[in-house]
Amino acid sequence: MLTDQAQFPKDLLPSAIPSLMSDPLDEFENMPPADKGQQPGHQKQEELFETAPPPWELAVQDDVATATIVFSEAPHGPYDYRIPDEMRDDLKPGMRVKVPLGHRKKAMIGWCTETKMGSSASRTLRDVSEVLDDDPLCDAHLVRLVMWMSHYYQAPAGQVFDTLIPSSVRSNAGTRERTYFKLTRRDIEDELIESLPPKQQQAIRFLIMSGRPMTSAQVMIGADCTISPIKSLEKKGLVVSEARREMATSTPMRWQLDDGETETKHELTDDQSVALGKIKDAVDAEEGKALLLHGVTGSGKTEVYIRAIEHVVKFGRSAIVLVPEISLTPQTRGRFERRFEGVAVLHSQMTPAERHFQWQRIRRNEVQVVIGPRSAVFAPLPRLGLIILDEEHDGSFKQGTAPRYHARKVAHARAMSLKIPIILGTATPSLESWHACSTGHADLISMPSRVGNRPMPDVQLVDLKNRDDRTSGAISRPLHQAVVDTLEENGQIILLLNRRGFATTIQCPSCGHVVSCPDCDMPLTHHRDGGKAVCHYCDYTIGTPPWCPACRFDGIRYGGLGTQRLEVEVKSRFPGAKVARMDSDTMRRPGSHQKVLSAFRSGEINILLGTQMIAKGLDFPNVLLVGVINADSALHFPDFRAAERTFGLVTQVAGRTGRGDRGGRVIVQTFSPEHPAIQAASRHDYEQFAHDEMNARRKFNYPPLGSVARIIIRGGVEEVTESTAESLVRHFESARDKLGHEVRILGPAPPPMSKLKGKYRFHILLQAVASGPLGEVIRTATDKFVIPEKDDVQYVVDIDPMEML
Ligand code: ADP
Ligand code: ZN
Repeated sequence: MLTDQAQFPKDLLPSAIPSLMSDPLDEFENMPPADKGQQPGHQKQEELFETAPPPWELAVQDDVATATIVFSEAPHGPYDYRIPDEMRDDLKPGMRVKVPLGHRKKAMIGWCTETKMGSSASRTLRDVSEVLDDDPLCDAHLVRLVMWMSHYYQAPAGQVFDTLIPSSVRSNAGTRERTYFKLTRRDIEDELIESLPPKQQQAIRFLIMSGRPMTSAQVMIGADCTISPIKSLEKKGLVVSEARREMATSTPMRWQLDDGETETKHELTDDQSVALGKIKDAVDAEEGKALLLHGVTGSGKTEVYIRAIEHVVKFGRSAIVLVPEISLTPQTRGRFERRFEGVAVLHSQMTPAERHFQWQRIRRNEVQVVIGPRSAVFAPLPRLGLIILDEEHDGSFKQGTAPRYHARKVAHARAMSLKIPIILGTATPSLESWHACSTGHADLISMPSRVGNRPMPDVQLVDLKNRDDRTSGAISRPLHQAVVDTLEENGQIILLLNRRGFATTIQCPSCGHVVSCPDCDMPLTHHRDGGKAVCHYCDYTIGTPPWCPACRFDGIRYGGLGTQRLEVEVKSRFPGAKVARMDSDTMRRPGSHQKVLSAFRSGEINILLGTQMIAKGLDFPNVLLVGVINADSALHFPDFRAAERTFGLVTQVAGRTGRGDRGGRVIVQTFSPEHPAIQAASRHDYEQFAHDEMNARRKFNYPPLGSVARIIIRGGVEEVTESTAESLVRHFESARDKLGHEVRILGPAPPPMSKLKGKYRFHILLQAVASGPLGEVIRTATDKFVIPEKDDVQYVVDIDPMEML
């Protein structure tokens, strides 16, 4: 049985979280003392108040109730405030308050992280002005999670609170305040009632009769009166009004379940039974445990998740299933919604009212399963029993803006603190999770074969260096022939090209000029629809120039291949086939994803082409051919994860075929067929890939063998930005020397994207064997590092960065 989890075990976070991403030595990360954890540029408590308190005020501070408050904007705190007596019972950690701050006229909204008796501040504390929430928006466990994230990711706690609690919840989206009238006492004497004017008599009799609070409109209709008799009754003290917040609409529309499938409860395969058994054991053991479910594509991982959740639900517990946003297809949703009564699906296209509604349902324990992308890791399920990350290797689990958290790391921390298992499911484990298995931080569960012993699809590599196979277009001869054959057999085809747009460079053949974004210095991509040239980093858009803007030569060339150009080529090569394109340009409207997929399922579409959107999760038995147009596109990135990404993408998309009885094949076009990542992917050999890749990373202590942090410095003036970066490096060096930690500091250097959205950028990389000392060096260095406002330079700290652009 599972224990009650309302009480967060105090000793578990953050001091005892075994870290997934790091060395076992680094298992215990120490929480900083209370005065640490300050963000760059923070003012200290003392600086906000000018005068020293008289000594007699210091003496009374022991019996003063204080609240520690943090803010999402600078200065972030934490600062202590006095809790006025009348608020002592109401204010709890995880609630929002209004407090005075510095010399500001308006009270500021802050988050309460702690309440206690006594104050360590040497000044008189200011009072909390108002408590904004009736109940904490974060329970004690989530408050601890906030504090851990703030420490680990070096982000202000207030900002982390704002990330945990959606803005739609903070703003009460989709609700309205209604005024209710009720009697002040039950036993109002008949004589008193009879002495009232007739309309007031009618109103009060109606309230007595209804026996519960009524809105003014209800009373006015029920008692056939205007508002004034009700107001008079209020003045006489017979009736009081109270404001209540209610959902404006009853139930926001649920996603329609229309994926054209029916659910059959399968008998588990042997592999599935073994996997499920191990997961159940972990649930029953009530110990936090990470389980890596390494199952090849088509091995039936989803069925294992569902059974595991059923086991947890039996005990009145609930589960979170995290999926990459793009694999949140109707098909995935359908599988869960058919098997559980209370499923909340969170996705990016929800309205604020819907999001708020779902959040309230989740918190009221009306939901058994929450499915969503990254941020669903914060779902406030009161009796959480299991967390699952499907496609755990996926890059979208890392947030690209502050706080730059990784949902796997956060999910792991949450699971460990609740003593519940976390399941990491994938066909291509991240090296972090793979490594965690070899250091004893996670248990490996393997499902090496497909359901029904279907063979893995045959993968053929086409060497694009070979002139005989090449054509003038994007599709090689062997791929062309394979498409023709597949269409003849009435099979369906998926073609992957990981670049959207028509042409990825616009270059003048005469002078060599490349049309680039003035703000990002990156080549613009030509989009045929509307003749636009678009920056894929900031959305800067111009009409595509008909001649070279530099030398006026009028034969400007569109080079490089995007999905739009591929679509044109495919349509002209295979005129009889129905073709659909799926990328973020064609999938802008809500529901468009679903529409294309159901047309593909029904066989209306023969060829589906698109970006990585089509590489994940789709399960269509009639897909007999998958073509990868250019496997090298992710390979030559200046990033130590390039090979891992390439292996993952090729393996994932290859997994979309061979799912039915008719088998399937894969054709991968590449200029580097000998590359180990592509070789391993063509043989479906994850272990070989992981082995080679770990050896490559060991040379430089790259993650998961060491920890990395990246500091990005950006500013409007190149020289000032660079000198700020240099001075930051000196701070890191002196912090490192002072602390005596072994930390490698690289940079500053301009990253591949040296200019973005009009700002110059530099970055610094810090590397160490363990994340603890690395974090400490950054914290120590940035604590006192203040950039003059006139310099207009900002920097961000990215712990465990996933990209180096
Ligand atoms: P994965 O997520 O591992 O790629 P899926 O969960 O998509 O695999 O399962 C692949 C297919 O096999 C699905 O169509 C699923 O319904 C089916 N399936 C899963 N488990 C079983 C089983 N025990 N018996 C028969 N079919 C199964
Ligand atoms: Zn740009």
